[in-house]
Amino acid sequence: MKKVLLIIMPFVVGGLLIGLIILIPCMLIMNFFGVNTTDGYVEDNFQYASEYTSILNEHLVEKQDGYVSLERILYFYLRNENSNMSEIYEDNLDVELKRMKPISSVCETLNKKFYYGCASDEIQVSGQIDEYQNKPFAKPIDFSKVVITSFFMEQRIVNNEFNVHKAWDLASNSKPEVKAVCDGKIITNSFTYQENIPDMAGGYGNYIMLECNDINPKYSVIYGHLFPNSSKVKVGDTVSKNQTLAFVGTTGNSTGDHLHFEVRDENNKYVDGMSLVSFSEDDINIPNKDEDYLKPPILR
Ligand SMILES: [Zn+2]
Repeated sequence: MKKVLLIIMPFVVGGLLIGLIILIPCMLIMNFFGVNTTDGYVEDNFQYASEYTSILNEHLVEKQDGYVSLERILYFYLRNENSNMSEIYEDNLDVELKRMKPISSVCETLNKKFYYGCASDEIQVSGQIDEYQNKPFAKPIDFSKVVITSFFMEQRIVNNEFNVHKAWDLASNSKPEVKAVCDGKIITNSFTYQENIPDMAGGYGNYIMLECNDINPKYSVIYGHLFPNSSKVKVGDTVSKNQTLAFVGTTGNSTGDHLHFEVRDENNKYVDGMSLVSFSEDDINIPNKDEDYLKPPILR
């Protein structure tokens, strides 16, 4: 009997080990650690929204030193007890290049701390972006004049209804100008509202749609809730990056003066516009081996 056990034991132990080796990556893929991401954005982000929004205002409005996605922050936050989101944002931000660091460079510079999520096999299955991304867009508005009130794919309750916001909301009472983020063409210039008041059934309200023609893929950008009669363009106009298009208002389904900044790719799929916006003075072009560097996180 003992002999049989001695023969069987190595197989049992080996089997268990192999089982664990398979199980751990499966747990990671199935998001055992508590956050589901779909197409790169975080589902059930309601509980993180207000804290994340205040961190965004610190970095995108006050310091203007670069954007780190909620998805990246939660990747570390949910694995590391006692960590804080603001510190993780800073760990993931390259303040010189003013953009999110590749995941492996975050882990390299974290040698002072021990971070779960930095094991090389875990990085591989994480789907985290491991390259610097190009930032082809100019800012759609002067960020020093706004407050960020809603981020891309934020879950919120508006008029007692649950919704997922597929764009960015940038609020401002000073009626700032909105600008072309790219060189492109005006596709829509809809200014049906004559008064700067909300209409809950009015969708985008007065809005402009710009199609970029200087970037591949060809993104299209919607500027929503614009001020009545403020358009400086017409359909078919060719505009250049940074050109003024109109002014911020609160027409359509809106609760106060703000710009709704929405971006779609050429397949009409919503993408995270902020991930495309450059925060650095000079346009740093970062070449990439497979030339898909323009893909924002959602397209990963
Ligand atoms: Zn909006």
